[in-house]
Parts: sequence; C-alpha cells; structure tokens
Amino acid sequence: MKNRKSFAIHTLGCKLNFSESSDISRQLIEKGFVLSEQPDYLLINTCAVTGTAEKKARNLVAKLHRQHPNAEIIIFGCYSALSPDIIAQWQGVKAVLGSADKMNIIPYMTEEALPQAPHFFSSYSSHDRTRSFLKIQDGCDYHCTYCTVATARGESRSDNIDHVLQNIETIHRENIKEIIITGVNLGDFGRKNGSSFLQLLEAIEKQDLIERIRISSIEPNLLTPEIIALAAQSKRVMPHFHIPLQSGSDRILGLMKRRYNRQLFASKIEEIKKYMPEACVAVDIIAGFPGETNEDFQNTYDFLNSLPISYLHVFTYSKRPGTPAAAMSEQVSPPLKKERTTQLLNLSTLKKEQFYHDHYGEERPVLIESDIKNGWLFGFSDNYIKVKVPFNASLINTITPVQITQDTIEPE
Ligand code: SF4
Repeated sequence: MKNRKSFAIHTLGCKLNFSESSDISRQLIEKGFVLSEQPDYLLINTCAVTGTAEKKARNLVAKLHRQHPNAEIIIFGCYSALSPDIIAQWQGVKAVLGSADKMNIIPYMTEEALPQAPHFFSSYSSHDRTRSFLKIQDGCDYHCTYCTVATARGESRSDNIDHVLQNIETIHRENIKEIIITGVNLGDFGRKNGSSFLQLLEAIEKQDLIERIRISSIEPNLLTPEIIALAAQSKRVMPHFHIPLQSGSDRILGLMKRRYNRQLFASKIEEIKKYMPEACVAVDIIAGFPGETNEDFQNTYDFLNSLPISYLHVFTYSKRPGTPAAAMSEQVSPPLKKERTTQLLNLSTLKKEQFYHDHYGEERPVLIESDIKNGWLFGFSDNYIKVKVPFNASLINTITPVQITQDTIEPE
C-alpha cells in the first residue's frame, strides 16, 4: 500500500452519486485511510446531465489542483465515463475511472489486485445521521433522445431483494430512521432477475424494520397501480413521489422517446391523489427541447397548471454531444429557453405555495435532523414539507408531530 493515506471526496450531481461517494469513503476509512483537508488523494465523482455539470467539474478540478498541487486527483462518475480523453488532459488528474469501474478506485489507491468488475454494486450513504440514500438499481435500457446517463452508467442492473434487505438492516443498526431508495431507473428494479420493484416494497413492508422509506424518482409508466396502492396502505412508505414528465406535449414526448403520454401521466397523479390526498408530487420538466413550439410549451404549462402537483424540478434543455436530440435541427434559441425556464420556475413557486397552504393547521410527523442553524432544528414531514422547530437536543433523530404553519415552514 502507498504511504500516503489521506483523502477528500467531492461529489457533483444526483443522489446516486452521493450514495456511491459515501460508500467509497466508508470503504476507504475501513482500509485505513483518513479524511483530510490536506489530502494526498482528491476523489471527484462527476455528473454529465447538463453542460453546466461538466463545466462545474472542470472548474472544481482546476480550483482543487491550485489548492492542493501535490494531491493525486482521481476522477470518476458519469462525465468521466463519457469523456475520459478530455478529462485526462486536465492538470493534476492522475486517473480517470468510468462509472462501471468506479469501485476500482479502492484497489487503485491501495494497490491491491483489481477485482472482476461486479455486475452491480450497491451503496448507501450515511453521512447524515437520520437519512440514508440506498442505491438498489443502476443503468438504464431506455433510450430517451436527450439523455447521456444511460450511456454513462451502462445497461440496467439491480441488486437482489435479500441483499437490499440486508443493507436496510445495516442502516437500521446505525439508528437511521429514513431510507431514500434510489436508482437510475428505479421502477426497472429486478426485471432481469425475476423480481420487481413492487416485490421489493412488499418485502420491505414484511421486514418491518426501517421507520420510513421514500421512493426517489420513478418513471410514470413504471409507477403501477399496485405500487400506488401499497404506498397508500403503508405506514412506512412516505406519501411523496417524484415523477419525470419532461414535456406536456405528446408530440415532444414522442421526439424524446419517452414511454408514456400526458394522459397516462395525468392518470397516475389522479390515482396518487385519490388515495393519498396529502401526497407531495414533484415533477421533472425540460424547457426548450428541440422542436418545442410556443404551442407545445403552452400545452405543457397549462397541463402542469391543471394538475395537483406540489412543485417542479425545471431543467433547461442543453445539447449533450452524441445524443439524437443534439442533432435535431429545430433547436430552441437560448433566450427563449431561458424565458420558458423562468415561467416554469414561477409556476413551481405558485404550486409549492398552494401545496403548503393546503396543509396549514395540520399536524404532520417530521423526522428531525441534526443540523442546527440560528437556534433551529430542521426536518421533513412525511409529505416532504421542510419545517423548523426550536432547538431541543432530545428531538434529534426522532419522528415528532409538528403543526404546519407559516412560521414552522422553512423555505428551501
Ligand atoms: S429513463 Fe430516459 S432519461 Fe432516465 S436514465 Fe433512462 S434513458 Fe435517461
């Protein structure tokens, strides 16, 4: 093993990346490494979802190299899988590992033999004492025309149910109360090994261990009535859904090669709200996809406005090299993309205000986290309203009823 044994890790992008970084840190610490502000190794987990994500990675590496000229910089994650040659030119970079071989970081640093690349490696984060992101699925077999994630992370593969349950046991032993189940295409869990996401949720219910489960982003076509019914009956599965729509125009959804239309999407929201009127529903939307006319955009806006959703994650379309959408001729001009993005962000604010307003006066269970700011503690209700309570150490990591009022809500 090399003598130098300190490291720092920086993560860009999605919850999956955070969960994997957390796992890599934990494993390095188990191998005798220490986290340090003056590290020998700088690990950077990159994202490639937007052009901004790439720029962030480049700027971050330049800054870190200036601050730590002697540190060995190791880059991994989605962007490094897509553009290893570009990254290898960056100053200070010693190694570039793709997404599939990111767990080779540990043998690289310890000089152990490289393992056979595992088909799926699970990971969970535990930096936060109350919540943990648990990765159960990776990769994607869909081919949405704007997406590089599927290329960067490879084909869809999943953990198996028994192993997920073991991970939940471990997380539970660490006294963590809430698990956010994550994946690139979560609803695809188990398809290739004879199980399903519904079966996993049923097994977690039966295990009867962890207090709270949140389902992170799930494709609308894979959010089945059975999953919604299970969530509605479960005390464990939180009434909180994150569903990508991307466009409210069926024509644009076709160009994106998404696997649903707006009618199917609306029916899922209707079903969720019928059984869980209190549910928080977050929706991903892309502004300015190639070919999006004023009419398509207006359809999207009106459609979102008509749905009982809670807020939006708005993404401005950006060309990803090598994707079919990047080669489409009718690219939307940057000012128009910006204008549409602003309109959707404003709509999101209105939706969120309405959602909060609908819950004023209710008492909801909140998992109180450990961060303290100006004498307040913070936490999320079952339906994902961020609230604050006056500091009281005995409340940390408990599920406490909190009345939702204008004064207890903490805007994010
Ligand atoms: S479902 Fe589409 S957008 Fe999501 S990861 Fe797969 S290809 Fe990309």
